[in-house]
Amino acid sequence: MANRKTTVLVVEDDIAVRNLVTTALGSHGYDRLTAVTGEEAVRAIAASLPDIVLLDLGLPDIDGVDVIRKVRTWTQVPIIVISARVEDTDKIDALDAGADDYLSKPFSVGELLARIRTTERHLSYMAREERTEASAFTNGGLCIDFLAGTVSLDGTELHLTPIEYKLLCLLARNVGRVLTHQFILREVWGGAQEGDLASLRVFMGTLRKKIEADPSHPRYIQTHVGVGYRMIRV
Ligand code: CA
Repeated sequence: MANRKTTVLVVEDDIAVRNLVTTALGSHGYDRLTAVTGEEAVRAIAASLPDIVLLDLGLPDIDGVDVIRKVRTWTQVPIIVISARVEDTDKIDALDAGADDYLSKPFSVGELLARIRTTERHLSYMAREERTEASAFTNGGLCIDFLAGTVSLDGTELHLTPIEYKLLCLLARNVGRVLTHQFILREVWGGAQEGDLASLRVFMGTLRKKIEADPSHPRYIQTHVGVGYRMIRV
């Protein structure tokens, strides 16, 4: 996104928050669009094709989660959810419906800009990726050869169990996105019993020991407490 400004659609019914966010984005060189209701947001996403959507979950007409469900049928535009609610379930519903990331109110301008920059890096990576074969995945020293089914770290081949491999591939294919526990359990194990969360933690622990230089300060896979995990593009 070198020559063109990134356009951010800000969907927020609270005028004070909307002004704060649009002012901050404007002073950092972003183009901004705004929508006040969910229906307006759906129309703006279709008509103006923003690069990134900042979406408040509590809107006066339809719920933010419904906005995500509607637009995800035809667009993969990155959506960062803004949630004033303290419950994790709203964020989790939004992520499961296809949101990429979340911010909890109150948030600082610095936090907001950091999330937007992360999303921009992911977008420029996706644009490059479209022009190359997706038979391999590289992130820092981590390399997955999907065809051969092998994983290497800094040139050394790793020995992963089938579950660890599936888990790593799922996170890699969704790099930059926060994946909920429920989503991971469904994709890796094909079901989600209550107790499975414990197994997920165990496998994540063994995977981290293999791919992280310091598993207590992970570089590749972030933990989102009570929500899920995300692979970071390093
Ligand atoms: Ca609101």
